[in-house]
Amino acid sequence: MKPLGPIPEGFVAIDGELAIAGRKASDLVAEAGRTPLFVYARERLDARVAALRAAMPDRLAIHYAVKANPFAPLLAHMAGLVDGFDVASGGELALVEAAGIDPAKVSFAGPGKRDAELELAIAKGVTLNLESVREAERALEIAGKIGVTPRLAIRVNPDFDLKGSGMKMGGGAKPFGIDADKVPALARRLVDAGADWRGFHIFAGSQALDAAAIIETQAQTLALAARLAEEAGVTVPKCNLGGGFGIPYFPGDKPLDLAAVGNALAERFADLPAVLRDTAFCIELGRFLVGESGVYLTRVIDRKQSHGEIFLVTDGGLHHQLAASGNFGTVVRRNYPSAIATRFDAPVEEEASVVGCLCTPLDRLAEKGGFPRAEEGDLVAVFCAGAYGASASPVHFLGQGPAAEVLI
Ligand SMILES: *Cc1c(COP(=O)(O)O)cnc(C)c1O
Repeated sequence: MKPLGPIPEGFVAIDGELAIAGRKASDLVAEAGRTPLFVYARERLDARVAALRAAMPDRLAIHYAVKANPFAPLLAHMAGLVDGFDVASGGELALVEAAGIDPAKVSFAGPGKRDAELELAIAKGVTLNLESVREAERALEIAGKIGVTPRLAIRVNPDFDLKGSGMKMGGGAKPFGIDADKVPALARRLVDAGADWRGFHIFAGSQALDAAAIIETQAQTLALAARLAEEAGVTVPKCNLGGGFGIPYFPGDKPLDLAAVGNALAERFADLPAVLRDTAFCIELGRFLVGESGVYLTRVIDRKQSHGEIFLVTDGGLHHQLAASGNFGTVVRRNYPSAIATRFDAPVEEEASVVGCLCTPLDRLAEKGGFPRAEEGDLVAVFCAGAYGASASPVHFLGQGPAAEVLI
């Protein structure tokens, strides 16, 4: 038997079934009218942001990285919880606007911004996190053409990366950000060109569960921002410290020690170098805010045996849950947390693999896990489905199409 990842705290059974925010899985599916279904719970989003705010210094603003989950009702709910939004495309900017979010609270990072995206963002007063020197020049040119003062920040490619990070996005040659040695001259250029200079964005990695690693990275980030500002002779109105806060997905993963990170940051803030004393700080988080709010529910279509192994074949799969299938940036496939939702409080009775309905061996949601005996019609729950699920999976593969989504 292979272990399953840890189910996030707070999920209980009602009448033997998994309940999400007090609602039974089968009732939620009946209401949605179909499976597969992503369920996101407002109360879990609220609790997560409240816990984060309680742990972090008041001075630290919290931004939501839209790419983790751009579902419109979820975005609208997040608008009441966080201080800002980070988008990575014109498409995400449109979603954020449709959710009624003020573009002045939005920053736009990401390589390969098209002219039309730059123009739209500048016209709306979005802060551009510039990813290259050439992009900076294009932004200045476009701003001049439309007669708007652009809000410009520099995304720095730091010379360090977040240790234990699931995905490395800083350190060495990268398509993201501008190498630190080129930053001071560019910062001066932006100020001299009359841009509304917004400061630095320094993102060093993602999905870290080790508080010590995050603490070290934040210290390095502050030191780098101070050094670059001093070299450039510019102020730092704002500094986006990146994010990287992870959530437990796999057997043995432990939740991040938020209090340790918050306390260390409070100490840093109490002892800032002069050039950062008036700076507004933020972090930008995706999965940490929304990942554990979501559950993916899929129905068992077939129960079969092959060479003595049991397969629960579902109507879902990697076309909605690429990450849970192990095909989204992981080297070794490990099981996400999952359960038989309709037998949530039943004991483990057998070893079974939960697979999707796609005709590819990559399509597994749980491999050789321990489950109660499930039959046709049972619902399977995959947890930690609130981030990088619906919008980060190849939804049209094999003609399957999207899952239903609901925010409760
Ligand atoms: C992807 C990304 C994030 C969000 O990462 P999470 O691991 O979901 O918190 C934040 N900032 C940038 C620049 C990103 O590319």
